[in-house]
Amino acid sequence: MTTDYRIRATAADGLLRMVAVNTTVTAREAQRVHEAWPLAAAAMGRLLSVAAILAGDLKSHSSRITVEVDGNGPLGRVVAEGQGSQRLRARVQHPHVELPLRNDGKLDVGQAVGTDGTFRIIRESSPGEWYQSQVALTSGEIGDDFLHYLVQSEQIPSAVSVGVLISAEGLVMASAGVMVQALPGCPASVVEDVAARFQALDQISRQVAEGANLESLIRQVVPEPIHWAAPETLTWACWCNRTSVTEALKALPTHDLEELIGDGGAEVTCHFCRQRYHFSAKELAALGGDHG
Ligand SMILES: [Zn+2]
Repeated sequence: MTTDYRIRATAADGLLRMVAVNTTVTAREAQRVHEAWPLAAAAMGRLLSVAAILAGDLKSHSSRITVEVDGNGPLGRVVAEGQGSQRLRARVQHPHVELPLRNDGKLDVGQAVGTDGTFRIIRESSPGEWYQSQVALTSGEIGDDFLHYLVQSEQIPSAVSVGVLISAEGLVMASAGVMVQALPGCPASVVEDVAARFQALDQISRQVAEGANLESLIRQVVPEPIHWAAPETLTWACWCNRTSVTEALKALPTHDLEELIGDGGAEVTCHFCRQRYHFSAKELAALGGDHG
C-alpha cells in the first residue's frame, strides 16, 4: 500500500461505531525523521494510530488532538498529534533505546514507555480553546492504556488494538489500529460478541503487512451488515513555522534572550520534524524590544 488512510463505519443499527487506521507510511516517516530504533518507532507508531483514530472527530482544519504518554521509562515522553483530521506528526524524547525482547518475542514497549505516569489526551477545537483529560498508565503498551482511557475517562465500552510490525532489520513494516465502541442501548449480546472477536483477532500489524485492508480488519470484529463511510487519507506533516518559533523565542525570559544574542544567534530545532530555524543576533535583538 502506498497511502495511509482511515475508515469509519457503523454496525448493529448504528449502535456499534468502528474506526480503523493504516499509519504505516506515517510511522515509517516518524522513524526516519527521528532516526528511531525499533522500540521508539513502535511506540510512536502505536501512538500515531491512536491520534489518527481520534483525529477522525476533528471538525475544522485548525483543530488539533495531542496524545501523550509519559511513563518515566527510558523512552521518556512520547507524543503524537493530529491536525485537521488528516495531518499527523510524532516525537519521542529518547529515540535510541534498546531492551531485551519479552518472553513472547515481542518488543517490550511497555517497559520502554514505563508505567509511572500518565496517558493524556488534549483536544484543541480552535487556537487557545482546549481541554485535556488523563488517566494513570496501566501497562505502557499504549493500546491497553488508550482502552483504559476510553473506559475510565469517557465511560464508553470499547475494544482497541494498535500495533506496529518491525522487520528483522529494525524498520517499520506495518502500523495499524482498530477501535470499536458500543453506544448506549447496544445489546449486551452484541458487546460480548465483539469482545470475543477481539480476543480471537490475529496481530493486526502482521495482517496489514501481509496485505489485509482495513475493511477486512473491521469485518473480523463486528457482525454484518456494516455501513461504510468514505476512506480518508492520512499524511505525515508538521505545522511548525518561523512565526510560531519566533513567538516561542519572544516568550523567553530577557536574560535567556540576551545570552543567545551574546552567543551570536540561535538555532531552534522543531521537536517533531527536526526542521532548523536560524536566528541571527540582530534578529534576536529585534525580538527583545517587547521586554523593554
Ligand atoms: Zn516541525
